[in-house]
Amino acid sequence: EEVKNYSCLLNYIMRTQKRTLVHLQKVIKYDIDGFLKIDLSSRRNLELLETLRFQNKKNTLLSLLDKCSTALGSRFLKKSILFPLVNAKDITRRYDIIDKMKKSFIETSDLRQILNDVYDLERLVGRISYENANPKDLLQLKKSLSRLPKIKKLNKLIGLEAYFDFDKNYDVLLSLHNTLEKSMSDDAPFTLKEGGIIKEGYDKDLDDLRLINQNSKDFLLKLEDQERRKTGIKQLKVGFNKVFGYYIEVSKLNSSLIKDDYGYIRKQTLSNAERYITQELKEKETMILRAEEKMLDLEYQLFCDIRSKCKDHTYSLQELAKTIAELDMMQSLAKIANENKYVRPQLNEDGVISIKQGRHPVLEATRKETFIPNDIHMDQEVVLLITGPNMSGKSTYMRQVALIIIMAQMGSFVPAKSANLPIFDQIFTRIGAADDIVSGQSTFMVEMIEVNNALLYATSKSLVLFDEIGRGTATYDGMALAQAIIEHVHTNIACKTLFSTHYHELTVLEKDLKHLRNVHVSAEEQKGDIIFLHKVKDGAIDKSYGVNVAKLANIPLPIVLRATDILHKLQDNKSYHNQILSPYNYVAPLVYDSKTDQEADILKQLKKINIYELSPLEALNLLSELQGKLKK
Ligand code: ADP
Repeated sequence: EEVKNYSCLLNYIMRTQKRTLVHLQKVIKYDIDGFLKIDLSSRRNLELLETLRFQNKKNTLLSLLDKCSTALGSRFLKKSILFPLVNAKDITRRYDIIDKMKKSFIETSDLRQILNDVYDLERLVGRISYENANPKDLLQLKKSLSRLPKIKKLNKLIGLEAYFDFDKNYDVLLSLHNTLEKSMSDDAPFTLKEGGIIKEGYDKDLDDLRLINQNSKDFLLKLEDQERRKTGIKQLKVGFNKVFGYYIEVSKLNSSLIKDDYGYIRKQTLSNAERYITQELKEKETMILRAEEKMLDLEYQLFCDIRSKCKDHTYSLQELAKTIAELDMMQSLAKIANENKYVRPQLNEDGVISIKQGRHPVLEATRKETFIPNDIHMDQEVVLLITGPNMSGKSTYMRQVALIIIMAQMGSFVPAKSANLPIFDQIFTRIGAADDIVSGQSTFMVEMIEVNNALLYATSKSLVLFDEIGRGTATYDGMALAQAIIEHVHTNIACKTLFSTHYHELTVLEKDLKHLRNVHVSAEEQKGDIIFLHKVKDGAIDKSYGVNVAKLANIPLPIVLRATDILHKLQDNKSYHNQILSPYNYVAPLVYDSKTDQEADILKQLKKINIYELSPLEALNLLSELQGKLKK
C-alpha cells in the first residue's frame, strides 16, 4: 500500500515538473504523531512566527530565537518551532548539545562566525540539479565548502562529534571543493555565455584559444597603428560592431585622404565619418570571431561539466546541508540560552508541570527587569482556574507556559529558574478576540469553533489554554458554557488545562471538581486606583476590578461613579432589579471640581506667561494680581 502511494506521488511529480529530479531526496514517512501538534490558531495566538496584530515578524518566538548564521539554520529553526519533538531521546540530545556548546563558549562563537560564510546549500543544490545554477552559484558553493575543515575541527573541539557527523562524505566534498577551486575564476559572472568563468590553467584548449584571442587583439592594435602611419590620419580607428564586424573608421573630413591603392572598401557612411574594411581586416575578423566563439562555447561546456560534477554530489551536499542546518540552529539556541539565562528543562513521564520563576520569553526580552516571573505547579491538577482583573496578566501567564513547553520540546533551554515538564502531544489555545471578519464569523462563533476543535482532539497528554471562554455572549450564557466545558475537560478528557475567567462565580467549582485548583493574578487597590502586581497566587480572587480598570483608562469620572453605584446595588441585591437600578434612583455624588471657570482662567494665564520676558518686578505684580483674583 505504502509503496503504491509513493509511486503515485512520484508519478505525479514527474508529470507536473517535467524536469530532472536528481535532488529529490529519500522518501521519509511523515508521521504527524512524531511531532507536537500545534494547530493554526495556537500558532497565531502564541505569536510563534508573526504577531497577532499587524502580522509583524518582530517580537515573535521565531525572531527571538533566530540568531542563526545561515539561511539553512533559520529555516530549520522555523520548522522546529512549528513541529517540536515528542521523543524524549531526541529532545535530550539537543539539551546535551546546548550544554556542550555552553561549556565551549569561545569555540562556539568561532563556529557561529565561520557559519556566516556558508550559503544556502539547499537552494544551491536545487539549482544545480535543475541545471540553472550560474557561475556565481558555484562560487558560493565553493566558499561554503571551503569552510568545511574548520567547521569539522570546531565541531570536534566542542565535543559534538557524536551529534554531528562531518566525517561522512568529507573527502568527496573536499575534492569537489578542490575542483571548484581549480576551475572557477574568482570573479566569474552571473552569465553563462559571456566567458570569464573558467580559471587559467584549468583547460589547455581554452588557454590556447585565449592566447589566440589575445594575439588578435594585439594584431588589431598594431593594424590601427600601421594604417594611421600609412594614411597619415592620426584619428583613424579600428572598431567593431555586431552588424558590420571590424572596420576602420575615418572622419568625413579626412576621408578624402584615403587613396584607392590602400584597398579600403567603403562599408558604412555615418553623418560625420566613413567606415571601411580591407581584405586583411576581413580575414583576421573571421579568425578572431571564430576563436572567440569557440572560446565562449568551450567555457560554457567546461562550466556545464563542472556543474554536472557538482550534481553528482547532490546527495552528499544535501546531507551536509541538513547537518549544518541543525548545527546552526543549535548554536543559535545555545547563544540565546546563555544571553537570557535559560535553564535546561527536565522531562518527566508523570504528567507533572512544575516551572519555577517562569518568564514569557518574548515579553521578557522587551521589558527586561520589569518582567515578573511566575511559578506553575500542576501535579494531580487537570484544570487551573485563573482569575484576576483584566490587564493583570492572565493571558501572558498562559502563553508563557505554552511557549516554555514548545521551547522545551524543540530541544531548547527555557526562560525559568527550573522547569520539570511532561512531553505533550498537542497544544490547543483559545486566546484573545481575533475576530475573523474576513470570513464573516463573529468573535463568539470563532471562539466556539476553536473550543470545539480542542474538545474533539485533545487527549490526556495535551495542553489546552482557554482564555475567558464565554466572554463573547451574555453573562449567564457565558458562565453556563464555561462551567460545562470545564467539567468536560476535567472529567472526560483530563488534558492539562489553563482556564482563565473573569466569572469569579466559577471558582466555587474547586469544591466539587477534585482536579481543579484556583489561582489568581493579584492586583491591589489603593484609594480606588488599581495596581497590577502580575503575580500569580493560590486561591480565587474576590473582585473583578473592572470599574477600576475603566478608571485607569481615563473613562470620565461621572461614568465611573455611576458604574460603582450600579455595581454596589447589584452586589447588595444579588440580581438585576429594574427599579433600584433606574437612573431616577441615582443621585450623582457631588464631586469637587477644582477647575471653576475663574480658576481655569487663571491657569490659562499662568500657562501663557513667558518667564524670560518678565522683569522681577513685573513677575511680582502679576503674581499679586493672580492671587487677588483668587481671593475675591
Ligand atoms: P489579561 O489577560 O489578564 O487581561 P494580559 O496577560 O494581557 O492581561 O497582560 C496585560 C499586560 O500586563 C501585558 O501587556 C503586559 O504588558 C503586562 N504583564 C502581564 N504579565 C506580566 C508580568 N509577569 N510581568 C510584567 N508585565 C506583565
